[in-house]
Amino acid sequence: MVIVGGGFAGAATAYALSRRPGAPSVVLLERERGPGHHASGRNAALGRQLVDDERVTDLTLRGAAFLRDPEPSFSDTRLWSPVGSLLLADSEADARALAGRAENRSIAHERVSMAEAAQRFPLLDGAAGAGGIYVPGDGVIDVHGLLMGYLRGATRRGASVELGAEVSFIERENHGAGDFVVGTRRRSVRARCVVVAGGAWTARVAGLAGARDPGLSPIRRHLLVTAPVPSIDPMAPFVWHLGAREYYARPEGAGLLLSGCDEAITEPGAVSVVPSVVERTAETLAHAAPALAELGVARIWACQRTFTPDRRPLIDWDPEVPGLFWVAGLGGHGATASQAIGEDAATAICNRLGGRAADDARAE
Ligand SMILES: Cc1cc2nc3c(=O)[nH]c(=O)nc-3n(C[C@H](O)[C@H](O)[C@H](O)COP(=O)(O)OP(=O)(O)OC[C@H]3O[C@@H](n4cnc5c(N)ncnc54)[C@H](O)[C@@H]3O)c2cc1C
Repeated sequence: MVIVGGGFAGAATAYALSRRPGAPSVVLLERERGPGHHASGRNAALGRQLVDDERVTDLTLRGAAFLRDPEPSFSDTRLWSPVGSLLLADSEADARALAGRAENRSIAHERVSMAEAAQRFPLLDGAAGAGGIYVPGDGVIDVHGLLMGYLRGATRRGASVELGAEVSFIERENHGAGDFVVGTRRRSVRARCVVVAGGAWTARVAGLAGARDPGLSPIRRHLLVTAPVPSIDPMAPFVWHLGAREYYARPEGAGLLLSGCDEAITEPGAVSVVPSVVERTAETLAHAAPALAELGVARIWACQRTFTPDRRPLIDWDPEVPGLFWVAGLGGHGATASQAIGEDAATAICNRLGGRAADDARAE
């Protein structure tokens, strides 16, 4: 089988498939010359387990459990820094709701006031909010180590990973059986199943096979790294203030990584920095957390999170194109949830294809 895209969606699926005896053999085709050029290498690396949607929380909980105790192929990197998180709310009712949800999901947590939050993250001094919860089991992810671990683990078990391999056509040979010829500039590969895992470009890739866009939206977000902050504790928890003036922050090197959680629907790959975002982020923070607003900006970039209409990842067969499988719309928690997403994809693929397709990918 062929997987198109070597970000978390494609790499975690290849990894999960490679661990199942009798699963289809995998050829993963990635357009860029190195892994992690897009969302998977340019995200905030926050391992937050309790997220807005309960179904996505199922995935982040499972993904985080893997990140804390990964397989041996990841052993030369520490994937998870167990720094904890401060999830903060605008109102007392919202803070209580967060604690209630954490309780229901058996996520260890402590209720915190804003003053207690500022003891753990001193730059919250003077910040607005009604407190929230401290989640000691959250962490920061080594996203490059994670992505490389998936790819290394998959190739060690026989998957072939090709970089600089942009898929430019997908032809269906036998419409009933769902056989494909997948083409790059250099060669074509015949496969019974094609997994489309192209991040912001997934709908375009699937469109090559004649599939309809399920309504994927690439949504641009900016991340900023500040100038060095004296006395920053590198093991301080990350802060995620939820609500009207949403922002997050965590130590990054000698400074902080910050986002004002801006969102703009854009064309796939439209990630030029919008200069006014620095000003708008400063405005958000000036109201929400004034000490953060005063820090100088050393670096800024933008990247796209891709969402389905219900904001849950799409991990399923295409309803109209036999043999086409979507791993798409990983949204804003795709790094944390990646292992669970890969496992769910591999389960669905093996349930249909079983071990039948062990010699599925044959180079022409
Ligand atoms: C600003 C930002 C902050 C984020 N913060 C967090 C966070 O703190 N925690 C968290 O868990 N998640 C976070 N995420 C989400 C996470 O990064 C994404 O959900 C995840 O990386 C998406 O992975 P992907 O494989 O779907 O997409 P991508 O990483 O974009 O990978 C898709 C790959 O497909 C390739 N491709 C596309 N078209 C073709 C083609 N025709 N042929 C071959 N290859 C092709 C692309 O080159 C790309 O490498 C954040 C994302 C962003 C943008």
